[in-house]
Amino acid sequence: APDTLIPPRDATGASEPAAGEMPTLAGTVSALLDSAVRLHGDRPAMHFLGRRYSYRELGALVDRAAAGFAQQGVTKGVRVGLCLPNMPAFVICYFAVLKAGGTVVNFNPLYAPRELQHQIEDSGISLMVTTDLAAIYPKVAAQLGRGALERLVICPMAEMLPPLKGLLFPLLKRHELARIPTDARHISFRQLTRTPGAVTPPAITPETDLATLQYTGGTTGLSKGAMLTHANIVANAEQILQRLPAPKMGEERVLAVLPLFHVFGMTVAMNLAVRIAAEIILVPRFDIEGTIKVIERQKPTLFPGVPTLYTAINHALEKRPADLSSLRCCISGGAPLPGEVRRGFEALSGCRLSEGYGLSESSPVVCCNPFDGSARDGSIGKPLAGTQVEIRDLADPTRLCGPHEKGELCVRGPQVMQGYWNRPDETRATFVDGALRTGDVGYVDEDGFYFIVDRIKDVILCSGYNVYPRVIEEALYQHPAVAEAAVIGVPDAYRGSAPKAFVVLKTPLETPEDALQDFLKEYLSPIEMPKHIQICESLPKTPVGKLSKKALLDSEAARAASA
Ligand code: AMP
Repeated sequence: APDTLIPPRDATGASEPAAGEMPTLAGTVSALLDSAVRLHGDRPAMHFLGRRYSYRELGALVDRAAAGFAQQGVTKGVRVGLCLPNMPAFVICYFAVLKAGGTVVNFNPLYAPRELQHQIEDSGISLMVTTDLAAIYPKVAAQLGRGALERLVICPMAEMLPPLKGLLFPLLKRHELARIPTDARHISFRQLTRTPGAVTPPAITPETDLATLQYTGGTTGLSKGAMLTHANIVANAEQILQRLPAPKMGEERVLAVLPLFHVFGMTVAMNLAVRIAAEIILVPRFDIEGTIKVIERQKPTLFPGVPTLYTAINHALEKRPADLSSLRCCISGGAPLPGEVRRGFEALSGCRLSEGYGLSESSPVVCCNPFDGSARDGSIGKPLAGTQVEIRDLADPTRLCGPHEKGELCVRGPQVMQGYWNRPDETRATFVDGALRTGDVGYVDEDGFYFIVDRIKDVILCSGYNVYPRVIEEALYQHPAVAEAAVIGVPDAYRGSAPKAFVVLKTPLETPEDALQDFLKEYLSPIEMPKHIQICESLPKTPVGKLSKKALLDSEAARAASA
């Protein structure tokens, strides 16, 4: 029946998932949209600052844009960059590039020029889609001519707004818009979508043809493109869907506040949403008050987010209550979700918040907690259908660990990437016996719930002991005055490395460092006690809102160099 999904086999997460259970899905990512258009054409597909698009309108725009991309030479094997905030053009151009047979390369519009340059050269894009915002366009235009990049498609912000807002936008916000030259290197969104009619797409083999190059791993150097096929992404949307509590086709509304260029936003807030013909509520920029208002007005039912987003919402709701009762299902991923934050959010919103786990290399979701109340605090839940998670010995990755034994999480499943773009050596090093090495340390309990202890590269080697920053962070979160905490290793003359904590307080403390050190003694062994605690106004975040340990390490290194 097209209108209600058959209750997923393992919606409760109670049955043991096993490899090979996942049906092979023959479809492409753009076929997800085609089927939503066919079955739910009248349903809303997107909402953007007051303007709604139905699935029929979205489908027609995608077909026109796909024909436009084909005219620009996009076909199988051609890579196209998207450098856009969350706006309708993102969704339209994403599906249109795929429909024309091309591969999408997601760019973060907040990239510094050096990062833009690296990703343009590495991916070999010939065309980049961007917008006319003054914060984005000039730095993208400055890259024209770099590598194979020859032309830009410009999607003006005002054209995506409701008619009146669109008219006023350039007048009111002129200073925020860039002047776009009219030359052959600039193609307007209007020009792109001028050609009516559907494109005849080249034959796509979902298992091998690449839907996206998802750049990741910039923390230790230059980022690499995870090659995600159509089948990888479609499978992941399907796997996550099986874990959701009875989603209704054509009736859900998904809050898209996570950036769509990030793999979590792309798969959960966009592809999964399209798979269930949900309305995607596009939030172009995260600001906490604005997001809460959008929830109150647009009444989303599903809300994927990162822990810092839920933390920010909790703080805002403590000051000003809001009606979040439309929410039915929230999934946190991307970083550890402190138990305090989960319980606080559930109490304030009345909605269940389940923690999941994933990475760019696995499209991204690997594990998720069940939504039936059996979620375990601190656990990332159980593997999705068709996914196998192995814990491998850190010293000898060919040896599998037993329950409660800590090792590296390694993953097999239909969502696992084909490898890194043009990097055979890194690809080889990232697989062991055919399983993807995640770089995360964790363990499994006797009931099959998985736990992440930390990232291998964040572990602090302190006097020969492994100290896990996350254990210290969790202890800090137990203190009622702590809003956010992050711990890194800093060089130490006696111990090699020692933990240092950065803390944001929600209520002031007298002599905070002493108060927190005293408090931590109850929770931590002497070797885990932070050598320093620095109180900060805020902590640096990555574009998707994860705490950025890289930024903390960089600023520590700069401080040490200038001392
Ligand atoms: P990225 O590919 O940049 O999205 O980052 C993936 C990484 O985020 C993983 O390898 C983990 O280190 C981390 N991560 C994602 N989800 C969780 C989670 N629930 N708990 C702890 N770490 C997580």
